[in-house]
Amino acid sequence: MSKKILVLGEVRDGSLRNVSFEAVAAAKAAAQGGEVVGVLVGQSVHSLGNDLIQHGADRVVTVEHVQLAQYTSDGYAQALLAVIQDVNPDGIIFGHTALGKDLAPKLAAKLNSGLISDVTAIEEAGGNIIFTRPIYSGKAFEKKMITDGLMFATIRPNNIAPLEKDESKTGDISSLQADIKDLRSIIKEVVQKASTGVDLSEAKVIVAGGRGVKSKEGFEPLKELAKVLGGAVGASRGACDADYCDYSLQIGQTGKVVTPDLYIACGISGAIQHLAGMSNSKVIVAINKDPEANIFNVADYGIVGDLFEVVPMLTEEFRKLLI
Ligand code: FAD
Repeated sequence: MSKKILVLGEVRDGSLRNVSFEAVAAAKAAAQGGEVVGVLVGQSVHSLGNDLIQHGADRVVTVEHVQLAQYTSDGYAQALLAVIQDVNPDGIIFGHTALGKDLAPKLAAKLNSGLISDVTAIEEAGGNIIFTRPIYSGKAFEKKMITDGLMFATIRPNNIAPLEKDESKTGDISSLQADIKDLRSIIKEVVQKASTGVDLSEAKVIVAGGRGVKSKEGFEPLKELAKVLGGAVGASRGACDADYCDYSLQIGQTGKVVTPDLYIACGISGAIQHLAGMSNSKVIVAINKDPEANIFNVADYGIVGDLFEVVPMLTEEFRKLLI
């Protein structure tokens, strides 16, 4: 049975994050031929509506308000509740991002609805929408469905391929007036950390360093390799705890969960808590001095060697190929 599915487009620095297009593709699968309605919340977001439509949304509803210029869960919840009332959807899909992880459970609880989080695949079986999600730190997968009420889901970035952009596609972009009031928190100022370039959670290539990198300076060859590959730098908790890099780079059970096309682990032993954050990467390359290191058990390609010799060699070879 066809359904009407809402998708929240996530705006960062004036453009839509890639996970928004993946969420549209997920919504298409969940709608089973029904309608996919994009939602944009913020200030001056109307112009981004076409981007959602060209990636597969049938139409877009925007909620613009001065109080929505910065994300607050209160403000966004009020905006989305107004859209839900107006559109009356069967389900809502968010990215499994900091924003989606904050907002989706809040709304689902408010509306007494079910939420399936960190979804990696969506399929239809016997008229039901089945969501696949990893459990036990990625060691197993479970399939779940929501049997009653509004269906909430957050999708893991880099898992569900976005639909190809169709620049000729058009659709209605309407604005909804929402009364945004009584916010319990107001953002006074956003102080951004120096950006490392590519966003780790959406990166297609990640070069990650562990305690084997040995120092802050030891990350330099990894940064160089990431730059040549157009990727991001990540780290194990071992490297973060040793103060070789910032905790924002930590990948794993208590860090970010990533699924790039290529993950290059340098001087990382492969502790279970690290694997929880990266073992679903499409291709894993491990560089480690110890041939018995556990990381080789999940690696597609293993290089036993000193990372300070291997990484610059890889950089040089990729540079020849790619530049
Ligand atoms: P190590 O285990 O010390 O490994 C360093 C590796 O570098 C070794 O295999 C060594 O052979 C290799 N090496 C050394 N020199 C070189 C060289 N020159 N060239 C090549 N290889 C070299 N960890 C995470 O990563 N993410 C998490 O989110 C996380 N959450 C945790 C949550 C909990 C509750 C707990 C208890 C732990 C968590 N940990 C997490 C920590 C985890 O258990 C490991 O301690 C950590 O991942 C180890 O980091 P590492 O592999 O960099 O260091």
